[in-house]
Amino acid sequence: MTPVVSHPGRPLAEFTTLRVGGPARELVEPATREELVQTALEVWGTGDDWLLLGGGSNVLIGDEGFDGTVIRVVTRGIDIAIDADGRHARVRAEAGESWDALVAATVDAGLAGVEALSGIPGTVGAAPVQNIGAYGQELGERLVGIDFLDYATGEVMRLDARDLGLGYRTSALKRGRAGIVLAVELDLDAGGWSGPIAYAQLASALQVELGERVPLADARRAVLALRASKGMVLDAADPDSVSAGSFFTNPIVSESFARAMPADAPRWPIVSEEPERVLAPGEDVPALASAEYQVKLSAAWLIERSGISRGFTLPGSGAAISTKHTLAIVNRGGATAADVAQLASLVQTRVLAEFGVRLHPEPVFVGVEL
Ligand SMILES: Cc1cc2nc3c(=O)[nH]c(=O)nc-3n(C[C@H](O)[C@H](O)[C@H](O)COP(=O)(O)OP(=O)(O)OC[C@H]3O[C@@H](n4cnc5c(N)ncnc54)[C@H](O)[C@@H]3O)c2cc1C
Repeated sequence: MTPVVSHPGRPLAEFTTLRVGGPARELVEPATREELVQTALEVWGTGDDWLLLGGGSNVLIGDEGFDGTVIRVVTRGIDIAIDADGRHARVRAEAGESWDALVAATVDAGLAGVEALSGIPGTVGAAPVQNIGAYGQELGERLVGIDFLDYATGEVMRLDARDLGLGYRTSALKRGRAGIVLAVELDLDAGGWSGPIAYAQLASALQVELGERVPLADARRAVLALRASKGMVLDAADPDSVSAGSFFTNPIVSESFARAMPADAPRWPIVSEEPERVLAPGEDVPALASAEYQVKLSAAWLIERSGISRGFTLPGSGAAISTKHTLAIVNRGGATAADVAQLASLVQTRVLAEFGVRLHPEPVFVGVEL
């Protein structure tokens, strides 16, 4: 076995896309799946605090750092198996693979289903954690299952996607089921054409109608260009990409609340994905209130309308709202986690005061509170 690479005391800022975060007492990078499992079991056995890190693109780590062991997931491997009928493919990838490298490989292989998720930073293993989504696609639509090292049992198990409680930017893993995603398995469509374009801005960029299909490479190129125009692909030349992506999720409110919003507020009704079913004998009829459907509002619109514009910053702070997109908080150089949290708190307070909506942060906070 190759030795596990260890970086005690290294600032975690070096491992996060926001470039904030103090030192970790211990930071290890097991190179293979076997080493990852063995290292995790050893660390868990000590009872020490532990933290998993992939690409660090969805975390806000405090300035005090982490007084425990950080395990960076860097395992590699992609396997693409096209079915005998040539219409579907099973794609398996190890957790430490770059998510975008996986998308690029599937697009090159003519496989559709995750092309709209091009350019999302981070690792394959973190993708199910918040059920990544963009431009009309969500991982959960294509995720078959994961290989999982369960903290509770210390066992490696297979979990089906339906057991992961996937929702809008959430999963059972994000809500606290502890363990390590070791690999993911996707079911993709072969044939070289994209899935039906499901996002108006992408359709317009491609000059097609919603629901049309385009060659996969065109879809990927258009998504990458749209993302770059918003500072949403990592680019050393773009200071607006020094971020954790969208800092807040789009809030989901009741239909009646949404109706009371200003007429020009963007709104997307959420159609329930629960299939119709017959109630079991003795089962209570659900309360009528649950029949009211829910509506997703635009966090970016709420932020802008509460008076916080692109480029906004507080005096003396290294953190700012992106100059391209009000949803991203960027490190303009030398920002601390406290700077980021202070700006995020202000955004939350303004939106709450103006619209009565509490925005929820999307990144995972470690040693930071708003
Ligand atoms: C510029 C930019 C654009 C972005 N755009 C999008 C977007 O369009 N859509 C979207 O959904 N997200 C987006 N994100 C957020 C982010 O890229 C995704 O959430 C990504 O999946 C995080 O991957 P990561 O490896 O960086 O995770 P990390 O930030 O390292 O970790 C995130 C969480 O996952 C846990 N974790 C990491 N690896 C594993 C594992 N193997 N097993 C179990 N838990 C694990 C960590 O402990 C942590 O709680 C964007 C981020 C940036 C910086």
